[in-house]
Amino acid sequence: MIGGTENRATPPMPRPAGEQGEKIIHRPIGLLAELTHRCPLGCPYCSNPLVLDPRQAELDTQTWARVFAEAAALGVLQVHLSGGEPGARRDLVEITEAAHRCGLYTNLITSAVGIATSTLLRLAEIGLDHVQISIQDSEPASADHIAGYRGAFARKRALALEVVRLKILLTVNVVVHRSNIDRIGEMVALARDLGASRVEIAHVQYYGWALRNRAALMPSAEQVARALKAVDELRRRYQGELVIDAVAPDYYARFPKPCVGGWGQRSLNVTPAGKVLPCHAAESIPGLEFWSVREHSLADIWTSSPAFNAFRGTDWMQEPCRTCARRDIDFGGCRCQAFALTGDARAADPVCHLSPSHEQVIALAAMQHGAPYLYRTSAGAAA
Ligand code: SF4
Ligand code: SF4
Repeated sequence: MIGGTENRATPPMPRPAGEQGEKIIHRPIGLLAELTHRCPLGCPYCSNPLVLDPRQAELDTQTWARVFAEAAALGVLQVHLSGGEPGARRDLVEITEAAHRCGLYTNLITSAVGIATSTLLRLAEIGLDHVQISIQDSEPASADHIAGYRGAFARKRALALEVVRLKILLTVNVVVHRSNIDRIGEMVALARDLGASRVEIAHVQYYGWALRNRAALMPSAEQVARALKAVDELRRRYQGELVIDAVAPDYYARFPKPCVGGWGQRSLNVTPAGKVLPCHAAESIPGLEFWSVREHSLADIWTSSPAFNAFRGTDWMQEPCRTCARRDIDFGGCRCQAFALTGDARAADPVCHLSPSHEQVIALAAMQHGAPYLYRTSAGAAA
């Protein structure tokens, strides 16, 4: 869900006291602020954890304002206001204004369901820079079915048009899987018609809710091949008109992606209750100790918290990553995926064809069926 980040030349931070070896701590660029886990939708691929933070545990407005000030001082440039659905927060305008006052580029990531037009107008007035709206499909009935919410498609369309009318930059996020992958062209055309300047095509990543729905969401190899070809053609067709960001789906790749640009290297994620994570799925790895903004400053957490240092640098790696020429390119892939598929968070991401567990990924990709979705709910998965 995180929008694009950019590289910049800032000096590395000092190492934490007692730190040995080659671990260099860079400054973060992006902060994902998960304002709430509440959401009216029930997407079966939702990246929120299986156990959601309750409303009573959410950080208040003042604490978010402090977090943004500390983030700006740490070097963060962009804040992504996300959830759940950030529109579920009654103080969304005040929170956004606090980030804006700190000089942060503000990006609202929303399902569009739960943001009133009047709220959007106030957000525009206080200087919201960018909006990302997710669409589930180009066909309304299918889109509402995937979202688990009747009327979601119409609301998304209406809010996207309003965003563009208010001259706020719009990105349309498209999460691609078995049910909609054959309509990538139609979804990109919809984004263009809505006035988006950018489309982010993201294949489902299989942890959390998506792991539960893996067989129902997994596209076939033929679908993936067609989709990759379609994206090439779409980029040519919309060149100069629409930026199309897309990456190959994990289970059909030869090499893994450099997940979150490297663990503890470029970004941090604050949960609704205030825990700070190196990536939004990091809580799926047992045994990691996460610090909270309620007890620590963001700078302290970034440099010294056990979770951020667990997989920073390359010292933690095992073979085949330890001696691999790509270890500083993809950082061994996704730690959460390595744990989900092998039970060992230090293993090479099994998506990599050099991993001893890669055959397992090939076998799992072949396991597809049309089972009903288990929708995300606050009480657990519901069919
Ligand atoms: S993925 Fe769907 S269910 Fe999850 S937060 Fe986003 S809109 Fe809500
Ligand atoms: S072996 Fe490890 S470092 Fe090398 S390409 Fe595979 S995941 Fe990346």
